[in-house]
Amino acid sequence: MVAVPVSADRIRCLNTALPRPKAAYVLYWAQMNRRATWNYALAHAAEIANANDLPVLVYEGLTCDYKAANDRTHTFILEGVPDSAAELRAIGAGHFFYLRTGHLSSNDILYRLAARAHSVVSDDYPAFIAAQHNTTVPERIGIPYTAVDSSCIVPMSRHEKRNYGAYTIRPKIRRELAACMEPVDMPSLVRKWRDNLLPPDLIALRTNVTPSAIPSLVASCDIDHSIKPSVEYTGGAKAARKRLEIFLKDRLRRYSKESSQPSKHATSNLSPYLHFGHISALQVALAVRDYAEEHKLMAEEFLEELIVRRELAFNFAQFAGEAVESLDILPDWCKRTMKKHAADPRPYLYTPEQFEAATTHDELWNAAQRELLLRGTIHGYYRMYWGKKIIEWSPTYEDALRTMIRLHDIYALDGRDPNTYTNILWCFGLHDRPWGERPVFGQLRYMSFDGMKRKTDVAAYIAEITASNAAHTA
Ligand SMILES: Cc1cc2nc3c(=O)[nH]c(=O)nc-3n(C[C@H](O)[C@H](O)[C@H](O)COP(=O)(O)OP(=O)(O)OC[C@H]3O[C@@H](n4cnc5c(N)ncnc54)[C@H](O)[C@@H]3O)c2cc1C
Repeated sequence: MVAVPVSADRIRCLNTALPRPKAAYVLYWAQMNRRATWNYALAHAAEIANANDLPVLVYEGLTCDYKAANDRTHTFILEGVPDSAAELRAIGAGHFFYLRTGHLSSNDILYRLAARAHSVVSDDYPAFIAAQHNTTVPERIGIPYTAVDSSCIVPMSRHEKRNYGAYTIRPKIRRELAACMEPVDMPSLVRKWRDNLLPPDLIALRTNVTPSAIPSLVASCDIDHSIKPSVEYTGGAKAARKRLEIFLKDRLRRYSKESSQPSKHATSNLSPYLHFGHISALQVALAVRDYAEEHKLMAEEFLEELIVRRELAFNFAQFAGEAVESLDILPDWCKRTMKKHAADPRPYLYTPEQFEAATTHDELWNAAQRELLLRGTIHGYYRMYWGKKIIEWSPTYEDALRTMIRLHDIYALDGRDPNTYTNILWCFGLHDRPWGERPVFGQLRYMSFDGMKRKTDVAAYIAEITASNAAHTA
């Protein structure tokens, strides 16, 4: 059966170069969607390959020189590699993983692989290194370079402008969603991959990643070894699918009532896997919709977060560009109110180091920060509190923004995501509305410890994190 082609509005050709005649393969550079299934970019690479009677080679790299490169992020990414390699092998695609361990190691593998390729397909992603690569590499690569949106369920390109909030993007997503909620139709690869399509000197540079080799591979890298791997998350497509299964069987039925109760563990914990593309949002959405229908459960709240909120974040990042890390991009009312309250005395003042070490006066805040230190995520409900208090206890709004971004860069496995920047800026009023005027916050929404205590089981959460901290730092 012929596969349904990837829809044209997911695909952006980013240069005008011509395909290489007599090429050996089509190259898919998996920058963000590091998976072999439910991947529109891989499907598009397969379409081009089949049309030209060529195999597909998937390239995944991991360098040592991105901001805050450390053992935690490296371990999680490397844990995903054996799954991708095995699943790609099973469909007849090639897989080339390269770990750039030091600043003097080769830094041109993409170009060397591209030198034999018909064309390059990569991920359309509006943040972090992928966004930079997609602006600089196409001009230098010499063959067609296409970016495919495999992150969003409704393609990013269908939103012509930046949305002001969930209320503006929601109707648009609802209109488009039914047609987008279909599994990715992956064409069967006609030409299977053979390693002898690459010269031996290039093959010799390929890094073989097995689960048992990961600690020594990480140790061999010139990165920050003081940030230990997450005590909670193991990377990879298999681990992601396991999380999804647990969510469906145990948590989905509790989600609408308990997702704002951190100690109840009713959320999916999928954000690190979604960030590194170990699982696709579309796969999750369809599994949740189908399971909910079959078991007569409500899935609306979860799908609102996974689709509307997440895709609002992608829409923001797409139009904000590099300004995602700046308060200048905020709506005027936010900037006005912050200007008015810039000199308000702060009730407590902490340095970035005190925040990082979780040594504030507030045990709930410290527990949320410890959750980040230990696990690499913070439960979504307390994450809002975490951000709001950093604003309240920092000398300036800019200091608060820097602290939040820095802590995400270093510790968050789901950091550097469109969701990171959008939600951090949400703490400063993005996608929100003006609230009653008060010190420091002005009209920005305020969150209090008493509110957290009233609405959530603060004591249970603190006890859980304290026990986990004791177990892992003993
Ligand atoms: C200050 C602050 C920083 C944040 N930083 C990040 C971040 O770095 N990376 C990140 O993925 N999320 C971030 N969030 C949003 C949210 O907290 C996380 O997405 C969520 O807690 C992840 O846990 P989960 O996978 O169990 O979520 P679930 O409740 O199971 O939701 C499923 C998925 O929906 C999406 N989602 C959930 N809540 C939101 C939201 N508010 N906005 C957009 N998408 C959402 C995520 O992809 C999530 O994995 C941040 C929120 C705040 C307030």
